Amino acid sequence: MVPIVSQRENPTISSSPAGNGPHQSGPGPTLVDRAYDYLLTMLMSVEIAPGERIAIDTIARQLGISQTPVREALSQLEAERLVFKTTNVGYRASPQMTREEVRDLYTLRQLIEPYAAARAAELMTDESIALLQAIDRDMSDVVDGDARAYSRFAEADAALHRLIATGSGNRLIADTIERLHAHLHIFRALYRTNAPNEAAAEHRRIIDALVAHDAAAAEQAVRAHLERSQQRMDAALAIA
Ligand SMILES: [Zn+2]
Repeated sequence: MVPIVSQRENPTISSSPAGNGPHQSGPGPTLVDRAYDYLLTMLMSVEIAPGERIAIDTIARQLGISQTPVREALSQLEAERLVFKTTNVGYRASPQMTREEVRDLYTLRQLIEPYAAARAAELMTDESIALLQAIDRDMSDVVDGDARAYSRFAEADAALHRLIATGSGNRLIADTIERLHAHLHIFRALYRTNAPNEAAAEHRRIIDALVAHDAAAAEQAVRAHLERSQQRMDAALAIA
């Protein structure tokens, strides 16, 4: 695979503190955050290709840090199923989803998420609306950005869909959606596409419906978004 961003400046070392993902703690990003951010960006932009081996010592050297935070970042990514560990080789990037896996994933999401969105719209609290607006801001900040912005967009997408799932008030639904870890996998497959720009408009409709407590509109907006997202995946896998 030919990475389209290989000439880009090093995303972690070159940019300012940033790192506004879910892994930030305290005043600035920790070494684990930095390693996570760096690896996530490489995985999402397929500079580390699906199935490729990830050498811990090389990553540590690239970042100028020790191997311990790199290992910790990798175990976070393993929990998100973006990498997996093998006995002799160490870590590898997870393989790309198959068409069958994609189809099954969207079938399940279509059964659950529109319903969850309708319930979430009814139950929206001021606190969740504030969270939604923060996610909305994050998403508009990262559209049209570089590889690092792209991986942040995927995380914002995960945050939005998680908020809908937990906002439904149904713990089983929230757990089921969380366990899929769908978003990072989907966005990894869509790296060479216009997905963030298209998804941004779809997300805006979802957010507007949730803020307006409009259950029917939220349900419809999520259904339409998942349909379009599945079509984007189908198109991407047809080229791959
Ligand atoms: Zn989405």
